[in-house]
Amino acid sequence: MALKDVRPGDVVVVRRAGDVIPEVVGPVLPRDDPDRAAWEFPTTCPCPRASTLVRPDGESDTRCVDPECPFQRAGSIEHFAGRGSMDVEGFGEQRVRLFLDLGLVSDVADIYSIDWDRLAALRAVVVTGTLEGFSRDEAASAIKARGGKSPGSVSKKTLAVVVGAEPGASKVTKAEELGVPIVDEAAFVHILETGELP
Ligand SMILES: [Zn+2]
Repeated sequence: MALKDVRPGDVVVVRRAGDVIPEVVGPVLPRDDPDRAAWEFPTTCPCPRASTLVRPDGESDTRCVDPECPFQRAGSIEHFAGRGSMDVEGFGEQRVRLFLDLGLVSDVADIYSIDWDRLAALRAVVVTGTLEGFSRDEAASAIKARGGKSPGSVSKKTLAVVVGAEPGASKVTKAEELGVPIVDEAAFVHILETGELP
């Protein structure tokens, strides 16, 4: 960026280089804002801890070496558990984030001691009736984004049946028969936040 004097906000010319990788040729000059500041390499990690970045002598990589950095933790778990390494089933990027959020894992060793029952329980939440804060699609994608499923019918494996306005009678009856908890929208939000029933 310094070499070609490309600054944040510039319009740039890009050309195809080799087969795939696009090359930035340079900024379109004169720039609309001649006082635009040059880009500076960040000195802190974008993680919430804003840890100071380190560039070891003789290396070209700048990195965060804070052992408590949540991004580093997620990255190392993803790397360790992912394809090309251990290939642990169910450990995609989204899952790792979810597990960290839920406190199910905090480091690589935790992969082997995960409470899989709790995870299985996370998987099915049935919503019936109209919720105030979520459309049907939004509720389903919120569940899916947290690693869960939103099946159309109630089974023994269902964590909870969330009941909105004018719920389907058959789902409620089935939940009662199977002893599946029937909860309201506030409880649904709690489930989304914690992975557990209130
Ligand atoms: Zn960091």
